Amino acid sequence: MTEPNWNQPLAALPSHCDVLVVGAGPSGSACARRLAQAGQQVVLVDGQVFPRDKVCGDGLVPDTHSALEGLGLLDAVLRQAQPARFAHCVAPSGGAIDVPGRLAVLPRRELDAILCAGAVEAGALMAAPVRFDAPLRDAAGRVTGALLSEDGQTRPVAARWVVLATGATPAALLAAGVCERRTPTSMALRAYVKHPGVALNDLHFVWHARLHGGYGWIFPGPNQTFNIGVGIVSTERQEAGANGKRPQNLRSLFQAFVEVDPLARQLWQTGEHLGELKGAPLRCDLDGARWTHPGLLVVGDAVGATYSFTGEGIGKAMETGMAAAESLIAGGSDAQVAAAYSARLQALKPRFDLYRKAASFNRHPWLLSLLVWRARGSARMISRFADILGERRMPGSLLSWRGLRALFRG
Ligand SMILES: Cc1cc2nc3c(=O)[nH]c(=O)nc-3n(C[C@H](O)[C@H](O)[C@H](O)COP(=O)(O)OP(=O)(O)OC[C@H]3O[C@@H](n4cnc5c(N)ncnc54)[C@H](O)[C@@H]3O)c2cc1C
Repeated sequence: MTEPNWNQPLAALPSHCDVLVVGAGPSGSACARRLAQAGQQVVLVDGQVFPRDKVCGDGLVPDTHSALEGLGLLDAVLRQAQPARFAHCVAPSGGAIDVPGRLAVLPRRELDAILCAGAVEAGALMAAPVRFDAPLRDAAGRVTGALLSEDGQTRPVAARWVVLATGATPAALLAAGVCERRTPTSMALRAYVKHPGVALNDLHFVWHARLHGGYGWIFPGPNQTFNIGVGIVSTERQEAGANGKRPQNLRSLFQAFVEVDPLARQLWQTGEHLGELKGAPLRCDLDGARWTHPGLLVVGDAVGATYSFTGEGIGKAMETGMAAAESLIAGGSDAQVAAAYSARLQALKPRFDLYRKAASFNRHPWLLSLLVWRARGSARMISRFADILGERRMPGSLLSWRGLRALFRG
């Protein structure tokens, strides 16, 4: 396969386009592909040379499969990904359950390359490494394009709409005046370990009293390489490292994970370490940034489209990118486009709110132990969990005392 033309210079960009998408991660590439397929003239830029790495767990959960299907890219991804059958959830008590679902693992360097190539193949013009420095505005403050830069050279590119898909770092949101919270909601850290001696065909999620406020994971990727990491998940309105509280030390949490989990210990102590432990922020709960501004839509992690309980955001990044594209394709006035996009995000909001509520489980390990204890040997409960994982059912009933009581009545 020939390499897509994704690292074009800034000078190759037209002075005007229909939509300028900033950020070529899952949200930006999904948005750009959908718009280009609809015949719009799309410019996609990213501050990094592609293909690029992105610190992530690389877990592809059911909503990611559905979004990839919607983009027509699922087969391309599954040809490279390592399939998995279950989410193996280990409770603080040590009890475990296997929840079935459409699951897979693919390092982000490869996943994002497929997505980004998908946008270029559909007709988007991509330039990288090209940075978004600031929006261009008209006299009324409407965004009319962006000032882009490459190697210290800057250039304006006019666009009818700009889509910010810049991930969890707030710089672009701040430059565009749509940032409502500088600090991330969560932080996570991961490493890659190669271990031919370990066979695993499920995604491991581990909760433990020593991982208080977060959880550990082991996700088996292609070529006997494991993504192993820990995350500190936000609860309520508390932000990781904000509110004057000392941020929890992710490296200590990782060390605790390796000490308490036998599989993590085996991988870490006897596997081949590929690269450094790397951390990155997450923005969750559809919170922390304005979703729209005249001439501008915000998608993916930039708009907080990651679930706070699980830290999963690839699927929702693509969904919000596609939602922005559909709203732009439908067209209309600025207010109509903003209303259409906001309505799509609003439809996702109840699920995000419930996941934020569920994040408090991380601070009540006994509750997770109780749930797993109750679910073991109960096909009905496992099937309910599978429905939640597959987004066929809301997790709401599990998050009320009434719901929990009902569960324990059987
Ligand atoms: C450690 C960790 C583990 C995770 N594990 C999982 C998991 O297993 N499964 C899952 O579903 N989710 C996981 N997530 C969440 C997932 O990584 C994000 O939800 C997802 O990457 C969001 O995609 P995005 O396109 O919005 O942003 P990103 O993937 O972050 O892409 C943003 C892009 O914007 C570019 N950019 C930023 N600023 C500029 C600028 N000024 N100019 C030009 N370009 C710019 C960046 O270079 C980048 O390429 C994890 C996150 C972390 C931190």
